[in-house]
Amino acid sequence: MEQEPLYCDVGRIGNPQSRRCLIVTSGVHGIEGFCGSAIQDELLTCGLLQPHLDSIQVLVVHAVNPFGFSHLRRVNEDNVDLNRAFVPSDRYTQRDLEYEAFRAEVFPCRWQGSQLQKIMRKLHRFSETKGLGVLQDLLTRGQYQYSDDPFFGGQDRPWSWSLWQRICEDIEAQSDYVVHLDIHTGLGDYGSLEIIFAGQPESAELSLAQSWFGTKAVRVPGSSGSRSARVSGPLGSHLIQFDVQVVPVGLEFGTQPLDAMLNALVADNWLTSNLDCDKDQAAHIKQEVEAVFVCRDPNWTVEVWREFKARVLQALEGLTQW
Ligand SMILES: [Zn+2]
Repeated sequence: MEQEPLYCDVGRIGNPQSRRCLIVTSGVHGIEGFCGSAIQDELLTCGLLQPHLDSIQVLVVHAVNPFGFSHLRRVNEDNVDLNRAFVPSDRYTQRDLEYEAFRAEVFPCRWQGSQLQKIMRKLHRFSETKGLGVLQDLLTRGQYQYSDDPFFGGQDRPWSWSLWQRICEDIEAQSDYVVHLDIHTGLGDYGSLEIIFAGQPESAELSLAQSWFGTKAVRVPGSSGSRSARVSGPLGSHLIQFDVQVVPVGLEFGTQPLDAMLNALVADNWLTSNLDCDKDQAAHIKQEVEAVFVCRDPNWTVEVWREFKARVLQALEGLTQW
């Protein structure tokens, strides 16, 4: 690792007396921070917030996972998927027998020294026989037993967990009503947006989100129509444990097909344990990872900003009238 300094930056603007707060977070999945960072930058400079700053506060958290952002990885420095890390600590010791059976079929006992081609063949066969949806559910929902596997949610509180905890405490002290927009890329059709609700299903906050953004637009992970599996411990779920009313949503912008995204993540996970592999192979894996999470197509960028702008205006209206 280069000994580079890494930062998560937190900025607050607006009326400090207001108890209403809009939060926009980026880079909880490090490499997805390119899109999130660009959106935050545009949001702060385009004048969209200006008419609202007398009546609300805006909190911008840039690069929740600075290691992943810097090293073009979705996970943090300990291979932890931070969007699976916000679970009660007793979750660390609970076994997930379905996941254990799945990993026994697809993943090696030891990643170090394993053959990527063999893993990809098994992954493909599993998807062909059981279905891509079943693969997505088992692989991506989050697991707490295998630190070298993808979608590992940790067995301890990572640095970014403590940071987000401190930010949540600060929000609780200063706010009563909160809308949290957490920006992601990688799931869904190219350039399209899925609004993923991160709070409790069938809650008053879900009804609020649906009334602001549209009933069909807001998806509950794992429900019909959602591209996201039911995942454990997303960042947005943490703030609901504090004494604030919060509407937490993930804004997921589509890039490449789901199977390409999952393949790239598994390959990148393999690479971490096999850094001594062929240099061309390593470069190819990093290119694939970048291709599924970082989109530089100007048409995509325009569409993503158009969608975000529409959604942030709906959130601001909802927040001020709450
Ligand atoms: Zn993400």
